[in-house]
Amino acid sequence: MTTLRIPFTCTLDCGSRCELIAEVVNGEVVRIDTPAREDTDSRPRLIPCVRGRAHRRLLAAEERARYPLVRSGPRGSGQFQRVSWDQALDLVALHLRNALSTGGPASILHATGAGAVSGRGLHGASASTRFFSYFAPVTEISGNMSVHNTMVAQRWMLGRHVSGSDRAMLLHSKLILLWGHNPADTHMGPNTAHYVAEARDRGARVILIDPRLSDTGALCDHWVPLRPGTDAALAAAMAYTMFAEGLADTAFLERAVSGHELYRRNLFGVGGTGTKTPEWAEGITGVPAGTIRWLARLYATQRPAALLAGWGPQRTRYGEQAARALIALGCTSGNVGLRGGGLGGNGTRTSNLFRLPSLPAGPFRPARFLPPGSWAQAVLEGQLDPPPAVLYAVATNLVNRSQASVDCLQALERIPFTVAQDPFLTPTALHADVVLPVAMEMERPDIVGSWGYDAHLFDSRQAIAPRGEARSDYWIMAQLARRMGFEEAYTQGRNEEGWLQAVREQSDLPWETLNREGVLRSDPEPREEFETYRQDPAGHPLDTRSGRIEFANPEALQVGLPLLPEYVPLPPAPEGFPLQLLTPHARTRANSCLAANPWLQRVEPHVVWINAADARDLGVQSGEQVLVRSPRGVIRIAAFVTERIMPGVVSIAQGTWIRLDQEGIDVGGSANTLTDSALSPSGGPTTHSNWVRVEPIHE
Ligand code: SF4
Repeated sequence: MTTLRIPFTCTLDCGSRCELIAEVVNGEVVRIDTPAREDTDSRPRLIPCVRGRAHRRLLAAEERARYPLVRSGPRGSGQFQRVSWDQALDLVALHLRNALSTGGPASILHATGAGAVSGRGLHGASASTRFFSYFAPVTEISGNMSVHNTMVAQRWMLGRHVSGSDRAMLLHSKLILLWGHNPADTHMGPNTAHYVAEARDRGARVILIDPRLSDTGALCDHWVPLRPGTDAALAAAMAYTMFAEGLADTAFLERAVSGHELYRRNLFGVGGTGTKTPEWAEGITGVPAGTIRWLARLYATQRPAALLAGWGPQRTRYGEQAARALIALGCTSGNVGLRGGGLGGNGTRTSNLFRLPSLPAGPFRPARFLPPGSWAQAVLEGQLDPPPAVLYAVATNLVNRSQASVDCLQALERIPFTVAQDPFLTPTALHADVVLPVAMEMERPDIVGSWGYDAHLFDSRQAIAPRGEARSDYWIMAQLARRMGFEEAYTQGRNEEGWLQAVREQSDLPWETLNREGVLRSDPEPREEFETYRQDPAGHPLDTRSGRIEFANPEALQVGLPLLPEYVPLPPAPEGFPLQLLTPHARTRANSCLAANPWLQRVEPHVVWINAADARDLGVQSGEQVLVRSPRGVIRIAAFVTERIMPGVVSIAQGTWIRLDQEGIDVGGSANTLTDSALSPSGGPTTHSNWVRVEPIHE
């Protein structure tokens, strides 16, 4: 019996990319392995996590879509009829044509997500976005559910999106502040947790600032819990302390920052806005004033000190302010641009050091965009003109992904025809009229670049035939392109292998090495964000009005936010919902991907974290089933009573699939059943700004 060892790439949306080996016997994957690679403390190999290692079980998940399906019962019932590819694609083409001729292109909603990530544009959103670029200017449900508010803040203050320094730079750090950041579970850049641990071994002090003592706490010396949504107040009080005690890096501010004097005056209450003392912040954040002073002194004096901000603090009602406040704090501390003193970035840099060409796009761009946080309200409230006729969802479990999931289900009822192109029968697919089954990573080839702070190129090979009649996104879109009359433009006569060959021919990389090793690794010098700017701000102007970092942003005024990175209080809790809800990422899922993998659900049971004091008041025990209710919905879930979350806050990991019972209770426990559809002032998600109550069931 021959065992084949075939390299493929895990492209889950975790903030990393990992190489894996599929061990294949008789056309079946029998084991997932990792390749042996050079592995030193300062040059570690990529370390796959439990999600990647459990890929094998996902191939055969019960919820796997194996055949083209057409709905035969009520939406959501799961009643489908198996049809041929020709039947399914003819039906989809018919509805696209009808929508185009009656409602016009904008009546077609194209929704994408990161459920399948492509290296060279052949899979997931890349494949369908190319298709629609040749088809017509449709409506796109798109936007960054992860890091929108940080990206907006960066554009205002720094003139561009900033990923952050390479993680290897942490080895220079004397202090690391992990602010709402949980790299132990969410990765956010390959090997982030490794570099944090290695820096600590080399003497760095590591502090976690977070309402939860996440698994990242194991890498830290201290945990500073703060109330969700109050990050900007804590940052302001730390900056105030730095100025008040002469610790602020005024030389850096003078040289490199516009608006810093206005900022300082605001911190000291000039103009009647109140002085942002640690005592002021204590009442807001729940962090003792003494701890705030200690944090400020450490951050200003233990140089270089890195501030790594996660995405949780900015996924809030005024998330722009959290992101702005942390940029201002980093500048005030004087660490920006110092090696090992990184400024928290958005972590989204995709490395294309190998400079591979992209696939060509057609002439059309979307006619309009709908934010993923509020598309359902736009449909339900009849705001769209023309109204939607077709929803075409690719690589997205749109219902789970969006805030206010129950509204999303209702919105799907209003759309005459929905296509779900997905490897799984997700809650979104269960409400579709047609399901087009998609091949997964091991079932199709690609060439994949690594995700930020890292420089690998992976030869992701097809290890096995697709399950059932699943096909690649590229194949599906090419078949539809044929029906719509632009196959030649879309495919240029190539199949997937043909495109990958064309990519190879257009670049002089050492392809022989990639063929032999399955991976190319480039090792550029680790990069410190803003290093050159710090050395010579005038010589390296930013793309802002002044060419400098800007603390005062008129763009903020235009969306109703203050000119400066000030704290803006959350709206008060609605009556009867006293607990703040956090919806962090789970160790065992990448958003809602992998919810269908039973192995992973055993690794980490789905629970609501509740502080021991709150649980005592409610009479709730660990392991007991409870209802968690918000003004928008109710879920049933087991309680996890713990001191690892601050009082007044509960936490439910996002990404399990919504499953409503007869009474409308979500027994799947999806966090977005509880969230509302509010957006931040600039249109970002606010999934960490919701209020709930916990009700014991006492069965
Ligand atoms: S989920 Fe991320 S860290 Fe885990 S194996 Fe996949 S790419 Fe690697």
